[in-house]
Amino acid sequence: MILVVNAGSSSIKFKLYKNDTTGPQALVEGLAERITVDGRLTIKDGNGKHEFEDQMDDHLMAVNSILQRFKELNVIENVEDIKGIGFRIVHGSEKIVAPVELTEENKAIIKEAIKLAPLHNPGALTAIEAFQQGIPNAKLVGCFDTSFHQTMPEENFLYSTPYKWYKENGVRKYGFHGISYEFITKKTAQILNKNIDDVNLIICHLGNGASMCCVKNGKSYDTTMGLTPLAGLIMGTRSGDIDPSIIQYMTKELSTDASKITDMLNKESGIMGLSEISSDMRDITDAIRDGNKQAQLALNLYGQRIAEYILKFANHLDGKIDALVFTAGVGENSVTAREYIVNKVKLLNLKFDDQANQAGYEDYLLISAQDSQYPMYKIRTDEELMICHETIKKL
Ligand code: ADP
Repeated sequence: MILVVNAGSSSIKFKLYKNDTTGPQALVEGLAERITVDGRLTIKDGNGKHEFEDQMDDHLMAVNSILQRFKELNVIENVEDIKGIGFRIVHGSEKIVAPVELTEENKAIIKEAIKLAPLHNPGALTAIEAFQQGIPNAKLVGCFDTSFHQTMPEENFLYSTPYKWYKENGVRKYGFHGISYEFITKKTAQILNKNIDDVNLIICHLGNGASMCCVKNGKSYDTTMGLTPLAGLIMGTRSGDIDPSIIQYMTKELSTDASKITDMLNKESGIMGLSEISSDMRDITDAIRDGNKQAQLALNLYGQRIAEYILKFANHLDGKIDALVFTAGVGENSVTAREYIVNKVKLLNLKFDDQANQAGYEDYLLISAQDSQYPMYKIRTDEELMICHETIKKL
């Protein structure tokens, strides 16, 4: 069995897979939350949802509670059934370019990268230590949101800031959502029946956090997020690209400090800030249906930004695009958002098959019309399954 873990400073999201000759099958998934506060554990299996109020003073207590409840629910017989644990880790700096075994050396790199991902890497490290103690015989593997993008050329990852900032302080574009991009690249290559090294894609990962990736010859060539996940597209609550001087200007206007303004750019901007309704695309499209002008404005800006990046990436690929792919919560499910985006790509002749665009689907569907200049797909991403596969490879 393989356990896939996505941990924060007070939560552990997990999914347990059984791996046999037919490949990994998900058995249960769940969430331990309010760690260090009091503790709440939810586990979903074939019989429904089980909730427990287990005291969790730290991550180790959370791990032990998860394992104990797995035994009670007959999911595992003993802890040794779990042979591998795959961790989703946000930042691997420039040093980690592929999934790795979590040796002391690699844990030190994750620690070093805390300055680049102060909200994410510490929780992951704490969880790694806890699982190492709780399941001592399992192999621990780390999969990083940044590593897929380490193939970007310098001209795409450098900022026009002093070169010294890059060399001495690590200021560059790292990019995120790499686990999802790798999954989608592999899946699309399979769908198109092409060798992965031959696929050129424009992938729109549009969730609450959102980014895009230009995949050239199966590798990341450019992406929209930057030093942090605040850059690029307009997201649920994040601004995406803005004039950097806005920070200093608003610091003075609101008599506050830069970290407060950065916080507002992360949590009160984007679709939420523009629409003043919600960060959730479902609320926005409902409001548009009711004639709400501000919701329309928000989606117009959202679509416009994505369209601009589609054209930039099409230029990167010299027009040799195998597919434009929509994925994650909004990309997979929102017909309206996809329509707003594609309507704004004036320089390419992209056309939906309206029936397919609106149709329900399992894992993927071609949604472009036959006379569309490029094929378009909606594809469900599965970051946990990607991590599970990578973990199995390291056993
Ligand atoms: P994240 O992983 O970044 O939290 P998700 O990929 O789960 O985000 O996407 C969450 C977003 O997806 C929600 O905020 C919502 O706007 C959108 N979403 C989810 N389901 C639908 C749906 N059926 N129709 C339109 N939008 C949806």
